[in-house]
Amino acid sequence: MGQGEQLPPPGLFVDAALQQEFASSIDQLISDLGYPVKLFFEPIASGCPNCGRGPDGNSDGIYDASNPFGLGQLNIVFPSGAQCPVCVGENEIIADDTQQYQGLIGYNPKDLQFRATGQENLTIVRTKTQLVSIEDMRRAKKVFIEGVFYRLFKSPIRTGLQIRSHVNTVWIEID
Ligand SMILES: [Zn+2]
Repeated sequence: MGQGEQLPPPGLFVDAALQQEFASSIDQLISDLGYPVKLFFEPIASGCPNCGRGPDGNSDGIYDASNPFGLGQLNIVFPSGAQCPVCVGENEIIADDTQQYQGLIGYNPKDLQFRATGQENLTIVRTKTQLVSIEDMRRAKKVFIEGVFYRLFKSPIRTGLQIRSHVNTVWIEID
């Protein structure tokens, strides 16, 4: 049988309080220096709020006065029998499903080598966000940062000390 490892008890150099302080410091940096990182998921289809559903499943051509939205893009009064201008007669609207986080961002990080893929001219951006965002980072179809859309390039990685407090995600510009 081998010797096995002989490690001293944990927490002598970096105890739980210090680890927590480290995580809190990153949160503060994100607050002070971060940018909005807006994730876009698979769009959601739902019934039209502006009309009723007819027997064929399409719009019944009658304005729904109980439309919960204020007058605007999703609430447009129209005469009975005309085509609903919101759903164009299909009684269904496709809405973006989004979630926004604040994150530290780094463009074209030097430590990230990527070989000739024909994508060298595209911008790569790494985001650091709170760990709570990790599942959303994974399932996002695209992300919007400083006016540019990116798609997932490398799966999210937990970061931090022994306590994983944040998540790094790498995205590549959608060309
Ligand atoms: Zn409609």
